[in-house]
Amino acid sequence: MKEGIHPKYQKAVVICACGETFETGSTKKELKVEVCSRCHPFFTGSQARMVDTRGRAEKFRRKYGLK
Ligand SMILES: [Zn+2]
Repeated sequence: MKEGIHPKYQKAVVICACGETFETGSTKKELKVEVCSRCHPFFTGSQARMVDTRGRAEKFRRKYGLK
């Protein structure tokens, strides 16, 4: 692997819009995100996600005439 192609990978601080901060590895020193594991619906609304998945499965079955 040639040197100089990849930017330096270092420890970065991620700052979320909700105020949460956590460390990660990145080529940038500071990262700003809209959502994190604390406030993202994917993590906070697991119940809603399950309902959504079930709804999608239903549509799939209807589409292909499965029971
Ligand atoms: Zn957040």
